[in-house]
Amino acid sequence: MPDRDRTGPKGDGPMTGRRGTGQAGFGGGPQGNCQCPACGHEQSHQAGVPCNQVMCSQCGTAMERI
Ligand SMILES: [Zn+2]
Repeated sequence: MPDRDRTGPKGDGPMTGRRGTGQAGFGGGPQGNCQCPACGHEQSHQAGVPCNQVMCSQCGTAMERI
């Protein structure tokens, strides 16, 4: 008679090693955006141009980097 009390460790193993390592959830650009502190308008950051030197196209206030 074979032992039936032994539940061999086959099947239910700790196979919780799947992790998605490809999270590309950043949208907007590699440099981020600039935001107007006055009206909240957001513009895409221009490479080489500091946000505080970019005037808001809505109200003309200097933008800030966010
Ligand atoms: Zn503005």
